Amino acid sequence: MSAIVAIVGRPNVGKSTFFNRLIQRREAIVDAVSGVTRDRHYGKSDWNGKEFSLIDTGGYVLGSEDVFEKEIDIQVELAIGEADAIIFMVDVETGVTGMDEDVSKLLRKVNKPVFLAINKVDNAQRAADAVEFYALGLGEYYTLSSINGSGTGELLDALVKVL
Ligand code: GDP
Ligand code: MG
Repeated sequence: MSAIVAIVGRPNVGKSTFFNRLIQRREAIVDAVSGVTRDRHYGKSDWNGKEFSLIDTGGYVLGSEDVFEKEIDIQVELAIGEADAIIFMVDVETGVTGMDEDVSKLLRKVNKPVFLAINKVDNAQRAADAVEFYALGLGEYYTLSSINGSGTGELLDALVKVL
């Protein structure tokens, strides 16, 4: 069985853009957890000859901030339970948000490899802006642009090393 990698993070950071760039075959599976149908997409990918399954976590957004935050927590808990490695994606355009801090708090306790992926780093100025994410306390990070593909190779090199 191939390793499972989950992509988590708040909405609009670019999780699906990254996922779609990597997968060769989308498996349209929706799974029911706690009676709520969650938007989770599964796909297969490989890098440097190592195959892995990728989960793009969507979230079931009901409109209320409370439910919204809870949903992200649930997605993170699911990822912690089932994944062999976690990609935690954040957005350099918006910078660090409260939700990023909450997710970091959960991920700092996890005994699995966590890769902090700072997305939307489309140019050098944005690479400089990315340093503020050290404040999340997750250590080293990877900057990337899911739209133009820069930086994705470095992240994947590090990822497949731990799988
Ligand atoms: P998700 O909600 O985390 O799955 O985010 P999406 O993949 O749906 O992307 C949200 C928005 O961010 C879309 O308009 C994307 O085109 C945009 N986006 C994703 N990746 C990048 C990137 O690397 N650079 C820029 N500038 N925009 C991006
Ligand atoms: Mg998405």
